[in-house]
Amino acid sequence: MIERKPCPNVQVNLQNCTCSYGSCEKRGKCCECIRYHRENGELPGCLFPPEVEKTYDRTIKRFIDFHSQ
Ligand code: SF4
Repeated sequence: MIERKPCPNVQVNLQNCTCSYGSCEKRGKCCECIRYHRENGELPGCLFPPEVEKTYDRTIKRFIDFHSQ
């Protein structure tokens, strides 16, 4: 098993994170966030505008629908 080192960018990432799900353990750990959502056919919350992000619908379909308006 590969040992994971603490991310040196967590504090900077948290300052720039636009996700409104405050209790998520992946906040500030962008690589874990992307991996989690990718494995679920989704995108990270920061790729959505605030009005979509707050719905927690992170599907690729929702992303495309928004950008197709
Ligand atoms: S986008 Fe998803 S994984 Fe990333 S911080 Fe928000 S809820 Fe957590």
